[in-house]
Amino acid sequence: MLQYAHFRFFYSLNDFLSAKVQGSLVTYKFSGTPAIKDAIEAIGIPHTEVDVILANAEAVGFFYPLKNNDRVEVYPALKNPVFPPYYSISPPNTDRITFVADVHLGKLAKALRILGFDTCYQNNYSNKEIASIAENENRIVLTRDVGLLKHKSLRWGYWLRSQKPEKQAEEVIEKFNLSKLIAPFKRCLACNGEIESVEKEVVLEELPPKTIQYFNEFFRCSNCKKVYWRGSHYDHMMQIVRGLIK
Ligand SMILES: [Zn+2]
Repeated sequence: MLQYAHFRFFYSLNDFLSAKVQGSLVTYKFSGTPAIKDAIEAIGIPHTEVDVILANAEAVGFFYPLKNNDRVEVYPALKNPVFPPYYSISPPNTDRITFVADVHLGKLAKALRILGFDTCYQNNYSNKEIASIAENENRIVLTRDVGLLKHKSLRWGYWLRSQKPEKQAEEVIEKFNLSKLIAPFKRCLACNGEIESVEKEVVLEELPPKTIQYFNEFFRCSNCKKVYWRGSHYDHMMQIVRGLIK
C-alpha cells in the first residue's frame, strides 16, 4: 500500500531543495517502513547536514521507521540551538578539527593548509577512499558532491554552497568556528605535512642565491622536506589570511 509522510525542512537544509519546494511541505510517498534517514536522503538532504528530526513533534533518531501520515520536521545544527542538546543526533565533533577534501577542491585544500588546518587531499582519491579516510582518521568530508555525503559510514561532512575557493574557505571557517584557530605557516601547501623552523645552514644548498642574500628565517616540511621562507609567496599567503580573519 502506498503511504505518505509530510516533511518540512528548516534553515540551511533548504539549500538542497529545488526553489519550488524550499520552505514548504514536501510530501514523500513510500511503501513499507523505511528508516526516516533513507526518506530524508531520498528527498535530497545528506544525513551529515541533519541535527534534529521531529516526527509528530517528538525527537527521533535516523532509524525511526516512517509511518503513514507522519509529520516530520528536520533541522540542521544551529549556532544558537533551539532544542535541548539531547535532541541532537549528529555526532559531537572531535577535539581537533581535520578535513578531507574531495578531488575537485584542490584550491580549497591549499587555502585551508595556508590557514594551518590539517586537510587531506589528493586529486586521484575515489569517493570510497575519501569515505574511508574520513572514517579511519575522524576527518570531516568537504565536498560539493551530495552523493558522497550520503555514504553510510560518514559521521561528519559539509556540503560547500559556493563554487569559489575563497568563498568556500570562508564557509568552512564560519561553519566550524575556526577563525580563532587560524595559524599560518604550520602546514605544507604541497603535502599537508607539518612545517618546522630550520637553520639556514641546513637548507643552504636548496636555496636560490637571492634568497640566501635576503632571507634568514626558514621553515621545512617534516614530510616532503619542501623549504619555505617569507618571500613573495608568503606575502600572497598573508593577503589571503587577512581576508579571512575577521
Ligand atoms: Zn610537504
